[in-house]
Amino acid sequence: MRKREEARRPENAAAAGVAEIAETACERRYPAAEPIGRLAPRKPALLLHSCCGPCCAPVIEELAREYAVTVFFYNPNITDRQEYNRRKESQIRCVDAYNERPDRADEVAFLEGAYEENRFYEEIKGLEGEPEGGARCDQCFRLRLEKTAETAKLMGFDCFASALAVSPRKEYRKISEIGRDVCARYGVGFLDRDFKKKGGQQRSVLLAKQYNLYRQTYCGCEYSARNGSEHEIR
Ligand code: SF4
Repeated sequence: MRKREEARRPENAAAAGVAEIAETACERRYPAAEPIGRLAPRKPALLLHSCCGPCCAPVIEELAREYAVTVFFYNPNITDRQEYNRRKESQIRCVDAYNERPDRADEVAFLEGAYEENRFYEEIKGLEGEPEGGARCDQCFRLRLEKTAETAKLMGFDCFASALAVSPRKEYRKISEIGRDVCARYGVGFLDRDFKKKGGQQRSVLLAKQYNLYRQTYCGCEYSARNGSEHEIR
C-alpha cells in the first residue's frame, strides 16, 4: 500500500520545495482519478481545501463528476492535536464513504498538509480579540487558501477551491476575494463557487449523518472554542 502511495505521489512535489507537505505530513490515501482509456478527455485536477468532513461532503458530490478531486486538509488553526486528529479522521471517513458509494464518480484522493500551529498564531497576531467573522478570520482564510494555492501550483494541479463557505457562518464574498487574490499571485486557477448555494448546507447535515461524521461545535481556533456553546452543531 505504501509503495503504491509513493508511486502515485507527483514527482515534482518534493523537487518543487514542498518538503514539509510532501515528505513529513503528506498522506495520499487514494490515487488521483485518471481518465478511462487513451481517448477519454482528462478532467482538470482540482485541489479542494477542506476544514472538516461535514463541510466537504456536499462539495465532493458536486465536483467529482467534473474534476479529478484531491481533498487537502490544511488547518493549523485547530485548537490542539487531539481535536485536529479527530477532524482529520472525520475528513478521511468522508472521503472513504464517498469512494465506497456505488453512484460515485471517480475516486477522490486525500492529502494532508502540515499542522503548523505556530504559523496560525503568527498570522493572527494582534487580532486575537476580533469577533468571529472579523479580521482574524480573514487572515485565517488567507493562510489556508494561500497554502492551498501554493501546493496546487507546486504539485501541478489545474485549479483549487475551498469548502469553507459551506458553513453559514462564513461569508462567501470574503473567501472569493481572497481566493481570487492568491490565484493571481500563484498563477493557478481558482474555482470561485459558493457551495452554500443549491442547498449545500442542508446536504452537509444530511451527509454527515449518513457517513457518521464527527460534527464539531466550534469553528476551530481557541477563540471560537470559548464561544462554542453559542454555535450550532456543524
Ligand atoms: S473563528 Fe474560525 S475562521 Fe475565524 S480565526 Fe478562528 S478558526 Fe479561523
